[in-house]
Amino acid sequence: MPLSFDLAGVSVAQRRTSTALVMSPVPPMIFQSLDLKFSKPTHGVHTKPFTFSFAPPTPTLRRSLLNVIDIKSEADQCMEVDRGDDPKHDQYTVGPGKSLCVSVFCRHDTGRMHPRSILGDYGHLERSSAWIHLIGGLAFVMYTGLRQLLDRPDTTANRLVSTACAATGVAFLFSTVYHTSAPSKRWAYWTRLLDYFGIYFAIAVGGVCDIAIATRGFENVAMISIVDAPLAAVITFVFFVLRRFLTPSDDTWEGYLGGCSATFGLFRLGHLDLEHASTRQATSFIVVSAYFVSLPQLFRIFDDQDVVLVVALQAVSFVMIIGGMFLDNLLVWPDIGISQGKGPSFLSSKKLGCVCSSHAIWHLLAVCASVWSVASREAAIAL
Ligand SMILES: [Zn+2]
Repeated sequence: MPLSFDLAGVSVAQRRTSTALVMSPVPPMIFQSLDLKFSKPTHGVHTKPFTFSFAPPTPTLRRSLLNVIDIKSEADQCMEVDRGDDPKHDQYTVGPGKSLCVSVFCRHDTGRMHPRSILGDYGHLERSSAWIHLIGGLAFVMYTGLRQLLDRPDTTANRLVSTACAATGVAFLFSTVYHTSAPSKRWAYWTRLLDYFGIYFAIAVGGVCDIAIATRGFENVAMISIVDAPLAAVITFVFFVLRRFLTPSDDTWEGYLGGCSATFGLFRLGHLDLEHASTRQATSFIVVSAYFVSLPQLFRIFDDQDVVLVVALQAVSFVMIIGGMFLDNLLVWPDIGISQGKGPSFLSSKKLGCVCSSHAIWHLLAVCASVWSVASREAAIAL
């Protein structure tokens, strides 16, 4: 039976560097066994009371092996902390009175020099991500306008191709708003929701568009086939909106990475999905791959050769999206390598104050995949 302790009268000094780095004499195996829940720290040294609950662990060989691995991992991290990581002097936070737009897009003056930062003295980690989606968003909005001048048949599928282009442009622009405001804990609380709204909206509209193409404007199609992907996107979005309102801002505002990320300019903060990260990734994967459910419809409407062409084009776009998600969420390349001082250095520019981080590469792949997807749709409606 779990026991609960209230140690409100006890003060514990704790130095924090990032999500992955909790400096404490207590090894992680003890954290795991006791299920410690500290009160939320902010940057730097602080003293706060805490409470924890105690549930006796089940001693198994697997658990013991995991504990050994955890201890080794902590030792490696501590060595890296000793190399001078310090989130108090990060290049991510935009100081009071400073413009987020200017700091992210043009020049971020922290009032200090950053001699070891790969971003130079005036760079910002979000700069590359924000610029990529700003350019991508504007390009898609412009193409939507220009597309009206093209000689295309006035069909449901054709109109939905235009709508999907516009939705993609809006999604990129919402993403730009998020990345511009990302250093602000208060603004990012709302704009991260806006970012995901844009993503789910674009995927849902794109999914309906693809079904319209595959069925020549919803010919003999059950309603459930049309609303399936949008409904999945709406349910996922509503879940994360509820989570947002039910989870205090302090509980989700966390630092990424560890190592020397602050020293090299890669330290960042954000409202994370934490224990719901896998839910986010799994649902995103399912919604993105919903297109392939319409394969039987494609074979019914098009010749076999045309189906191969249309599906092959969409598959390239799908691989780019999934590759980007894998790179950004699992490999975290090149961020981890750079924050450990291993490079590669050619992906950053001190002069421009930006770096091709894993998230910036994901942004680039998302734009490329969307362009490819539009080209696939244009080719399909021309058949
Ligand atoms: Zn982003």
